[in-house]
This record gives sequence, structure tokens and C-alpha cells, in this order.
Amino acid sequence: MSNDTTRLFGLGGVEVVGVDVAEDDIPILALVTADEQARCCPACGVRSEHPHSWVVTRPRDLPVAGQRTDLRWSKRRWRCQNPSCRRRTFTEALPTIPPRSRLTTRLRIAIGESVANGGRTVVQAARDHEVSWPVANAAFTQVAMDVLPETTPPVEHLGIDETRRGKARFRLVEGPDGGDVWEVATDRWHIGMVDLTGGAGLLGQVEGRNATSVNQWFAR
Ligand SMILES: [Zn+2]
Repeated sequence: MSNDTTRLFGLGGVEVVGVDVAEDDIPILALVTADEQARCCPACGVRSEHPHSWVVTRPRDLPVAGQRTDLRWSKRRWRCQNPSCRRRTFTEALPTIPPRSRLTTRLRIAIGESVANGGRTVVQAARDHEVSWPVANAAFTQVAMDVLPETTPPVEHLGIDETRRGKARFRLVEGPDGGDVWEVATDRWHIGMVDLTGGAGLLGQVEGRNATSVNQWFAR
């Protein structure tokens, strides 16, 4: 049975069973699983009737009515009763909150699309949604992978150009004669490879400024 808060929240597969407000005025939504499919073993698909334990996770989600909102999802760990299945137990997962994901699917897509289609940098998208840079970058990569073709279309004219960005960083490493030598850790020069006449856009971007970097990219 769905309630008004659940309908307003609008995240498929869960029901909102309570709203608390934390000391810093951030609403905390208590969620339970409302999708029967979640108790089917991900390995064999057999539905379980034997609960094992409770787990509470805190997936990050979009703001609710423009306000940051925290989630507490109480979900079950189930025993798989299928004797031919190697999976002993599994935790509930939903298409809207996938297993091992710390973000809801809709937040991941919103972050990825703000970079892919909204012209945001990864850094800004991470700040906007209060996630780390690697999380925002992974969200963008996922959205990009979903729309990119499996194989790159044939390229007739390859464009190669270099761009300078930021400052170079160096690190001390052991040289061939045993003494310390400086090595470039982050090159300030990047080489971009583009499809000049077709529609494939940017094909690759690597650090460096010389033929070695280009050849390494070709080889890969
Ligand atoms: Zn199973």
C-alpha cells in the first residue's frame, strides 16, 4: 500500500515509512523495500522465503523539493534456498538502487547527464551533488558508455593536436645509476585525437607532446 510521501518521493521499489529531521535540518527518509522481486536470488532467480538479517544502507539520492535529503534503507539479507545455487545469502537490490551502489540510479544518471549534456565539468557536477570527483567521473563514464557505439566508426582523417593545461608535476624516482632522478608524474601537455571529417568526435586524449605518446595510443 503506497502512501502520499512514497508517491511524492517517487523512487521505484521502496516505500517511505517515516521522515525524521536531523539536527542540521536535513530530512531523513526511512525506506523499506516494496518490490517482491528484490527477494529473488541474483544468482539463480529463485524467490526466498527465509530472511537472514537486516541491513541499513544510506544511498545518496537527488534533492527532494530542492533540499538535500538523506535516506536510510532498511533492507533484508535473504538465504537462497535453491540447493543447486552456490549463493548462500544475498541482500535486496533494486533497479533504482543497484547492488553495491552508493547512489540511486536517478542520481547517477543526473550527475552523468549534467556533464555529458549539460556542459558541467566533472568537478562542478561533483560539487553540485556533494559527491567525490571519482564518483562523478564514473557516473559520466557510465552515461557516455550507454550512448557510444560498440565499435568506433572508421575514421578517414585523423586530427591530432596538443593542449597545455595546468602545471606539470614531478616525482623523484631511482635512476639507472642508483641516484635519484626527477620523472614527469603529470604532463601539462595533452594530445587529443579527433575524427576530422566524420562525426565520431574526440577519439582519445593522452598525456604527452610527442610521437611516442601518439604511437602508444595507436598501439593500444
Ligand atoms: Zn540462488
